[in-house]
Amino acid sequence: MKVQLLGAAQTVTGSCCILETEHARFAVDCGMHQGNAEIEKRNCNTRVYQAAKLDFILLTHAHIDHSGLLPRMMRENFDGLVYCTEPTVDLVSLMLEDSAYIQEMEAEWANRKRARRGKEDPVEALYTLEEARAVLSRLRPTRYGEAFEPAPGVRVCYRDAGHILGSSFLEIEISENGALTRLLFSGDLGRPGALLMNAPAQPAMPVDYLFMESTYGDRNHRNEDSSRDELADAIRHASSRGGKTIIPAFAVERTQEILHSLFLLHKEGSLPEGIPVYVDSPMAIKATKIFRKHGDFLDRQTGDYIASGDDPLSLPGLQYTLDAGASQAINARQGPAIIISASGMCNAGRIKHHLRHNLWRPDASIVFVGYQSVGTPGRKIIDGAKSISILGEDIAVAAKIFTIGGFSAHAGQSQLLEWVSRFVRPELTVFLLHGESKAQRILADLLRERFQVRVSAPAYLEELTLAPGKEPVVRADRRLASGKINWTLLLAETEGKLAQLRASLADAHDRPREEQAEIQEQILELNKRFMYVISNL
Ligand SMILES: [Zn+2]
Ligand SMILES: [Zn+2]
Repeated sequence: MKVQLLGAAQTVTGSCCILETEHARFAVDCGMHQGNAEIEKRNCNTRVYQAAKLDFILLTHAHIDHSGLLPRMMRENFDGLVYCTEPTVDLVSLMLEDSAYIQEMEAEWANRKRARRGKEDPVEALYTLEEARAVLSRLRPTRYGEAFEPAPGVRVCYRDAGHILGSSFLEIEISENGALTRLLFSGDLGRPGALLMNAPAQPAMPVDYLFMESTYGDRNHRNEDSSRDELADAIRHASSRGGKTIIPAFAVERTQEILHSLFLLHKEGSLPEGIPVYVDSPMAIKATKIFRKHGDFLDRQTGDYIASGDDPLSLPGLQYTLDAGASQAINARQGPAIIISASGMCNAGRIKHHLRHNLWRPDASIVFVGYQSVGTPGRKIIDGAKSISILGEDIAVAAKIFTIGGFSAHAGQSQLLEWVSRFVRPELTVFLLHGESKAQRILADLLRERFQVRVSAPAYLEELTLAPGKEPVVRADRRLASGKINWTLLLAETEGKLAQLRASLADAHDRPREEQAEIQEQILELNKRFMYVISNL
């Protein structure tokens, strides 16, 4: 059998593995590639998925980096079913419609811009709302612990991964030419102590090949147990100065976890009396409803609150802002408040407005409660940038920045190792996915050292031929895998431009005074851009 990596290979987005067995060809996840322009080109290069030849798709959970290209598969004539848990059916419906809406809007903006520049050929949206809705009719709910056979010789069992509502890891047994191969796809693995979610379950079969996420392969979460206290401190810092606490949070799971933390802080009496709390993300509001609907998927402690008549996702002063007008009114309102808004990495959505209004204020707290990908505004802020470009404006960073590790939906390094220790055996081969190179290198070393297993981190478009008891055969497709950035060439080009500029300015002194002033202005602007790039490195 063969496994090809179509994403989340030495990076964290675009999760998709395509498996080819004797009787079937199918995908585990079909996520959107996110992060930078180079990686995002892969969203359009979807012919490599050969969607029409996929028999079915197994979806581990609703996050867009695992589900976001499903509508694109519909465009490319995928005609099979998509299996996932019941809460995932609800969450992914919400997320794909939202994603399609964004795709359509972006294409519309781009086309207006092109028209203004006199370009006639319009660009096409990555996919449409109609294509997203077509996915929804293909979703088939599965249950944790109940194995099924989506194709001859393929047996699948979903188990609770404890990452977000309905998230799963997959046990897949492939029967081929009389031999059995057992693969485990971790999907995204949760933290054992996470609020609302159960700890990741225990695999129930011996595993030959483990495909494991490695997002936090290089570190543990700091002060997991004191996260709630840190959140209370951040809120107190701002509210005692009359400022606002801004919490960029993913609409699904993180927002609900923060709401539940605020519920607990309120119960403990550690929340400033009467402070308004805004959930300012239409998607987060809808996701919270889905969490309530599937209360039986939440952990025991949360179940106990619900049983005793409490609402673990509510607290006094909580307000939901659905329309944009109400969202803007939050910033016009003086005084302390807590604002939870998306996106979690500050690169889209209403959070950008809240940052523009508060990032420059020394009395505000900005609280990061999730993973910040390289290149996003969120990552730049936590890495100490002095100013950030938001909505085309340079905003100084003067607010107090808090990074709270204990809210992560991903297992930390020691938690990943602990999970593997429960089913490791000498025959196990591990492939690391869903992690940046440094995290994968460090985790791979630890896995080899501790468990004496074979570990590798396959690259984008690499194809693995697997047969238990034999070394995996790796075939890399260099023609299709996008090349590395040639920094030498890029910087040589910058230097060339500088030399050209110097040559053109040889006669600068002879030019009219106003013209010199204008050129000076433009070069100062260039220098500012240079400083911006340098300070963000
Ligand atoms: Zn996820
Ligand atoms: Zn993920």
